[in-house]
Amino acid sequence: MGSAAIQHVRILQPAPDVYAFFDGRTENQRFADYPNWVDDGALSLGIASYALVSDDEALIYDTHISLDHAALIRSTLEAKGVRKFTVVLSHWHLDHVAGTGVFADCPVIANRRTAAHLERQKTEIEAGTLEGPPSISPLVLPTTLFEDEMTIVIGKHEVRLIEANIHSDDATVLWLPQTRLLFAGDTVEDTITYVGEPQNFAQHLVDLERLRSLRPAAILPNHGAPEVIASGGYDDTLIDATAAYIKALRRCIEQPQQRSLDLRAFIARELEAGWVHYFEPYEAVHEKNIATTLALALPSTGS
Ligand SMILES: [Zn+2]
Repeated sequence: MGSAAIQHVRILQPAPDVYAFFDGRTENQRFADYPNWVDDGALSLGIASYALVSDDEALIYDTHISLDHAALIRSTLEAKGVRKFTVVLSHWHLDHVAGTGVFADCPVIANRRTAAHLERQKTEIEAGTLEGPPSISPLVLPTTLFEDEMTIVIGKHEVRLIEANIHSDDATVLWLPQTRLLFAGDTVEDTITYVGEPQNFAQHLVDLERLRSLRPAAILPNHGAPEVIASGGYDDTLIDATAAYIKALRRCIEQPQQRSLDLRAFIARELEAGWVHYFEPYEAVHEKNIATTLALALPSTGS
């Protein structure tokens, strides 16, 4: 680890007072030469943590994939005069919470489900046995919990924390009503959502509609194209693309011929419309999503 771990981090500024610390989507970049969750799913797809800064205060939306990454975020912002940090976790997945130790002296806000997931699996996460290596040790747990919604103020910004069940059952998104900016965590991704909980697809669609009804001016996902993030984020059609993809996955249950389409063909309409952008490593995610969806719907096929 050390500075080699953060040599590819790009600091983007999608909006005034907003920074994205983006890593991954870089040729030949590997965290380690053995299989590990940092390379597979985080760096391979690209991952951003965000900071909302106002005067000497900052909100950190996810603590990134390692302590080194979190330390870079903290030192970068301290150099800009930030003295007071508040962490908000988008959900419990490891690529979003690994750096929390760097902010152990700060409030760490999460919804109750996120806290419960982390507490329940703390031993395995610290041992590196839940998703394999690297371990996250010690795993710093949230200090401030909420349910449904909570409003906080960071300098001149009002920030609404909104709980949702999309991608994982413990999502927290950030809504800035003054600028209509939505920090979406992993509720939407470019190119496609990563499916871990297909049993909740119906709720995912309901909650995507709830986010859509906010009518965001721009959306900042944690996994997306750095060029789009740097240029201000995504249109709300990223939400439409996500809902369309989930509906198409469900149709695969009844329509076997859909299952063998590659990702480019599967989401041809959304790509054509420019709602999402094709990124080849998502082919593997799509294959896994099909398998996960079918395993739940058709357990007897053994596929
Ligand atoms: Zn993620």
